[in-house]
Amino acid sequence: MQSLTGRFRGCLRTGCVPFSSPPRQQFLRPGSPFWLAARRQNSGQATQNRADAIVVGAGPAGIAAVGNLVDKYPRGNVVWVDKSFDGGSIGQLYREVPSFSPAGNFLEYATALPIFRGIADAVPRPNAVTRLQALDPNMTCSLSHAADMLQLLSDGLIRHPSVKPVLGTVTEAGRNSSTRQWRVAVQPNHDIGHVPHQEEYHAPLVVLCTGTFPRATPLPAPVSRLGLETCLSPTRLARLLPRDRDRTVAVLGHGYAAAVALKNLFGLATSSHPRLRVRWFAPGPEPWSDGALLPPSGEVAEFARAVLGGGGGGGDGRRESEAGRFIERVVLPASQERAEAVLREGLLRAGGVDYVVECSGFRRARLPELRPGVAQWTKLAFDPETGLFGPYRERSDKVIGLFGAGSAFPGWGSAAASRERETAGVLESLQYVKRMLPAWVDATKRGYWWRRGKL
Ligand SMILES: Cc1cc2nc3c(=O)[nH]c(=O)nc-3n(C[C@H](O)[C@H](O)[C@H](O)COP(=O)(O)OP(=O)(O)OC[C@H]3O[C@@H](n4cnc5c(N)ncnc54)[C@H](O)[C@@H]3O)c2cc1C
Repeated sequence: MQSLTGRFRGCLRTGCVPFSSPPRQQFLRPGSPFWLAARRQNSGQATQNRADAIVVGAGPAGIAAVGNLVDKYPRGNVVWVDKSFDGGSIGQLYREVPSFSPAGNFLEYATALPIFRGIADAVPRPNAVTRLQALDPNMTCSLSHAADMLQLLSDGLIRHPSVKPVLGTVTEAGRNSSTRQWRVAVQPNHDIGHVPHQEEYHAPLVVLCTGTFPRATPLPAPVSRLGLETCLSPTRLARLLPRDRDRTVAVLGHGYAAAVALKNLFGLATSSHPRLRVRWFAPGPEPWSDGALLPPSGEVAEFARAVLGGGGGGGDGRRESEAGRFIERVVLPASQERAEAVLREGLLRAGGVDYVVECSGFRRARLPELRPGVAQWTKLAFDPETGLFGPYRERSDKVIGLFGAGSAFPGWGSAAASRERETAGVLESLQYVKRMLPAWVDATKRGYWWRRGKL
């Protein structure tokens, strides 16, 4: 294999790699013959299991990382690993969620790179990108639009001759300092002939875009949990909750996801599930007084302000009293000890609650084990300014060629206004990867490791 230095040197021009035939989206689902054909074709191009970069995760951040690598370094090879290649969390779980950001953000993502524009142009119209173009760019939209766009780009990238898609989960990663290569172990989705096996891939540069999932904290009372992803989908919620029995669902939290969950539960209680009741636990009388928790407009923000009376919108009395029939508001005190006591009492009072849905933030998805010769995750710190992993406190572990992006590893924005603000959203993670990638490639070539947080 040509070295990273050799392959990437002088390849900084951007250019769209033309497609010989338009990708056929409907046949590109993992497992389909076209998927396998794309994989076989691509694997022939890569030298066995060696590549110039390995990207883990195929959500918005992973798509951005692969797109930028292919765009900026057209002669490099990328191994790309994901369990399903269906747009990450947005495609898998949030299709029914109204977006937080305006539709224009998703269109900007879809058209940010020549390779993305080439992929979209090759798909017959109307397609996911032209449908985004038809939306008001300043208004929020259903995340299904973003999911379809991500799927279109993902399908195009997995057919690209420089990309080797691998269906599976990265379980281990370790760097050999003499070969300067990372060895990444992948557990494929399907074992061959029921024999468990592991595949290995090698590259000098690895980008982790592994995403997050809802955080679950210990509850002060024994109550069944309802997954946040279920509450974010009116269809799944309606299927799970019985129509003809009393059910009480406790909602904990006051972020955007909590507002969506409350809106969905309220929607069911006022239509098909009249015996459904909600107990909502959130701090302070005005849980949405921090404007950053809700977008300025959109159906969720309007619901939160008008029906739940938050975010300084005043609320209108009729709808608030209607909400009061179905949603009981429990204010959690600021002191953690007292908040726990109020929560406990609120979960057990009057026959208790049937389910709890927790909307108290997100945590990183399980990361691959680091071994051998690389410190464990607990000993490493992620530097949001550079995207590098560095030793935590005074340790001296050198981590070369490993980078993070997306909601698991949100970097900082570049403009003064967004500096030191995390870039976890779809468009922001693309902008971050686009800005940082040349420095990551350069740092890998130079064997740079994190010392001062500067590249
Ligand atoms: C209610 C809600 C509304 C939102 N609205 C918006 C919005 O309007 N606009 C916006 O920009 N953002 C929005 N977001 C945030 C958005 O969903 C995230 O920013 C985005 O999904 C993060 O992308 P990601 O690529 O970092 O991670 P993910 O989308 O989570 O993708 C990670 C991928 O990595 C894979 N993976 C994980 N571990 C491994 C492994 N070991 N091996 C192989 N594959 C692995 C996973 O299977 C997954 O496919 C919203 C989020 C929520 C909860």
